[in-house]
Amino acid sequence: MDDINDNNVSISFFKEKVKDFVEERGWAKYHSPKNLVQALNCEAGELSQLLLFKELPIEEIVNDDMLLNKIADESADVFIYLLSLINSLGLDLTASFMSKMDKNRKKYPISEFNNGIYFKK
Ligand SMILES: [Mg+2]
Repeated sequence: MDDINDNNVSISFFKEKVKDFVEERGWAKYHSPKNLVQALNCEAGELSQLLLFKELPIEEIVNDDMLLNKIADESADVFIYLLSLINSLGLDLTASFMSKMDKNRKKYPISEFNNGIYFKK
């Protein structure tokens, strides 16, 4: 497991891990799309709470091991519930990502932004 990182695994690897974890515990019966979306939102809330009312520069966050580990844990929780949702609906996350990025490129064309600031010609 130590050799696994973002550079050498695929989405299907994560989908399979989450599917196995859920099936081994008999949790699939509780994983309706509604429950999974709500659980995902709860985990996003836990992630958000870590930075609530804090105006920390990135350098301060990345140098705070305890905070950074909590952010990593909650980010993983969000990802796990997203994968469970994707699994339950039989979606292909890569296809969804590619499609949505294409829509975003059209919605936010580079030509309409200058140094991050929107302007319309
Ligand atoms: Mg959590």
